[in-house]
Amino acid sequence: MSVQDKKPAKKKRGEYVPHIPEEEARPCQVEGCCEAGTYKAPKSRDELHEYRWFCLEHVREHNKQWDYFAGLGSDEIEEFVRDAVTGHRPTWDRESHIREQYFKLHDALYEFVAGAAKPASPAPPPLNAKLRKSLATLDIEYPYTEQELKVQYRVMVKKYHPDVNKGDKKSEEAFKQVTAAYNHLSDHIKNATS
Ligand SMILES: [Zn+2]
Repeated sequence: MSVQDKKPAKKKRGEYVPHIPEEEARPCQVEGCCEAGTYKAPKSRDELHEYRWFCLEHVREHNKQWDYFAGLGSDEIEEFVRDAVTGHRPTWDRESHIREQYFKLHDALYEFVAGAAKPASPAPPPLNAKLRKSLATLDIEYPYTEQELKVQYRVMVKKYHPDVNKGDKKSEEAFKQVTAAYNHLSDHIKNATS
């Protein structure tokens, strides 16, 4: 059974009781309707305290739209979403309000299903402060290979070597740090792979 064939459960005639007497009513708010608007209905789900006034026929019509999803079981909603995902979107000739509700529902369910199906990605290994500092000093990212480490060390050595920088104190200090960082990262990767 496809969803668009599903009719919302009809309310019994007796459930409709006029909210105000006919002589106090203004006209039904449906354009072109000349009946008295003796039945009130909330304007929308977001405006539950704002009412529109309808005649019996049109309040029924209005409530049918409201009841559409309320009347669906979970299997039917599932089928509904499956249809939508595979591209068989029901072609409804109803008010855009209904369509809007449908898309909202579809998005929410799809997000829920997609979220549940997504496997948890493994957390990256925690890096201690010394390791992070060494990586920053050598300007290299974790994880690194021994080869990458050596290449990057050579680059940094060329940059900070005392011979190149003519005894500049800052470069000397940087050179020491680069060497210490290299030794630490080298030890780390050897321990990790042994
Ligand atoms: Zn009417």
